[in-house]
Amino acid sequence: MATDIGRARERNEDGLLVEPPFFAVADGMGGHRGGDVASRLALEALREGDRALAERVREANRRVYERSMLDRAVAGMGTTLTAAVLEGDRLRLAHVGDSRAYLLRDGRLRRLTEDHTLVHRMVTRGQLTEEEAAEHPYRSVLTRALGTEPDVAVDEAVVEVRAGDRLLLCTDGLTGMLPESRVAEILRSVRDPQEAADRLVDEANEAGGLDNITVIVLEVEGGGPAGTEDAGTVAGGSTASAGGEPTGTVA
Ligand code: MG
Repeated sequence: MATDIGRARERNEDGLLVEPPFFAVADGMGGHRGGDVASRLALEALREGDRALAERVREANRRVYERSMLDRAVAGMGTTLTAAVLEGDRLRLAHVGDSRAYLLRDGRLRRLTEDHTLVHRMVTRGQLTEEEAAEHPYRSVLTRALGTEPDVAVDEAVVEVRAGDRLLLCTDGLTGMLPESRVAEILRSVRDPQEAADRLVDEANEAGGLDNITVIVLEVEGGGPAGTEDAGTVAGGSTASAGGEPTGTVA
């Protein structure tokens, strides 16, 4: 995992959670310190209690929303949240906003989440091409965020994972700077997951680093022949971790 302020922003309002079986990235927004507060509150809510993943995300929404109502300094804040939980060989995803989850399998990169952005809506309606959307001045405008309304619709998905799969969770500071083809190349070619995470951040910075950049790279290790109970455990990066904290932190 890696999170970086980038080269243009004054603060890193992204956050990440690596606390197996939970993994998540969040990209906070809002003036003053709102963005920091929103992403941190959301990630804290995600790791607490004993609920299904989507319900954790809805609880995170309530907490961010309530704080923004009570504290003028952070009024109007919000965050994206792309969260995953590993349940045996199934990866469950819950998602709001324009951070993303990807699966690299057999060398091919597949996007697992849909951006909740104005430009993505226009792409689905045939009003913009993907290429035009990537360059659009309003490409960061969200149609859905966590914490801006009392309730939020949460996208959910379940993916069966196999040995050799790689999963990437990332904020738009990565995907806004690097084409998916380059992201795929890095995930294919850099063996160590932590080195791959660091390389992704380095290249997003080399491409301009216009936003905060956060990535989690997970590699599915074979625990035995396919179909056995322990097939498909997920290992995070090496002992290196974000922000100098031990593994299992909200950064
Ligand atoms: Mg961002």
